[in-house]
Amino acid sequence: MDECALVLNAGSSSLKFCVYRKSAAGAWSLEAGGQIEGIGTAPHFSARDGAGNLLDKRPLDKDALDARTAFDSLAAWLRFRYGGARVVGVGHRVVHGGTKFVSPTVVTAQVLDELRQLIPLAPLHQPYNLAAIDAVSEQLPGVPQVACFDTSFHRGQSAVAELIPLPREICRSGIQRYGFHGLSYEYIASVLPQVAPEISGGRVIVAHLGSGASMCALKDGKSVDHSLGFTALDGLCMGTRPGALDPGVVLYLIQNLGLSAKEVETILYKKSGLLGISEISNDMRDLLGSRVPLAQLAVDYFVYRATKEIGALAAVLGGIDGLVFTAGIGENSAAIRSRICEASAWLGVDLDRDANARHNSRISRPESRVSAWRIPTNEELMIARHTGQLLDLVEVHA
Ligand code: ADP
Repeated sequence: MDECALVLNAGSSSLKFCVYRKSAAGAWSLEAGGQIEGIGTAPHFSARDGAGNLLDKRPLDKDALDARTAFDSLAAWLRFRYGGARVVGVGHRVVHGGTKFVSPTVVTAQVLDELRQLIPLAPLHQPYNLAAIDAVSEQLPGVPQVACFDTSFHRGQSAVAELIPLPREICRSGIQRYGFHGLSYEYIASVLPQVAPEISGGRVIVAHLGSGASMCALKDGKSVDHSLGFTALDGLCMGTRPGALDPGVVLYLIQNLGLSAKEVETILYKKSGLLGISEISNDMRDLLGSRVPLAQLAVDYFVYRATKEIGALAAVLGGIDGLVFTAGIGENSAAIRSRICEASAWLGVDLDRDANARHNSRISRPESRVSAWRIPTNEELMIARHTGQLLDLVEVHA
């Protein structure tokens, strides 16, 4: 391999990566992908080739303590495997671009400085994203890097949709609805013309149901509203986050239960949602497989909250033409898709149970007024495409 481009998605405890290679014909294709999980606790590395075959899987020594040192381990593996290749660019997922970064951006010292100022708006994601950029600068000096933002796709929404109705003076510090999972929604919007042409120019709700979960209202492929707001805590019930919450609860936790802001943060980001309700697991597979009443209550609430959000976004769109499911739960759980579609029958969703059970792309009956779809997302490919375009590389393929 002569040239490759890297895509990195750095989180608090994992570093996901993809390697894209340039073929002789000049097209880019997925060469390998994988992750380092358990950073800071019991780090282990795994990688698969573009066809999904396992290339490597092993524990790492405790050196992979943070996003920075984890990248050192990844760089060593890349050198071992693709020693002769030239890395022409690195694309990063960066969760927050604020109001300024409305599209992917080549990272400079000044850009990095401005992105650091957004850390308070995404304290559990942004620092890790930026640490990976720092690590690449050290290990691969001179290689251009591109930051791709989860918020960008939502910019362009109306002033009303972005508003958080607190005193204007307070909002001036950057308090507004930003929206997240934008790379996933952008990818789905980009493939709708091929996969579901009859709805691509219409009113579509996309349900990104993973450990983090959200919904986006698309009109003609553009985001008009979204369930996540100022932070990644709003909207749907998630694995460990509660979703929309009466703000009075936060006041009560602080004023009456005497919890510190840090303790409340931990509760909101790590102990609530499916895990908080069930007291068993944040993993939907565990809950669906359990007969414990609280596990079933967690699943019921997840479906209830998702259905409620569909109703709200349908109102924003003035009706819907299509409903798309994506991400871990949306792509893999026929049971959850079925329950949400059946609860949305009043909107005109008529589920084809067989197609849904077979995980087809189209999961509604041909005569369904609102069509329903299962479309796997690919945030890494979206980052690779942006990186390629911005660094003037050629088109990137899955
Ligand atoms: P993230 O990228 O936000 O970490 P994913 O999109 O990978 O999350 O989704 C993770 C979620 O998908 C987990 O809650 C997991 O339980 C769920 N999931 C994966 N496969 C299935 C399945 N077959 N049935 C139900 N849930 C599943």
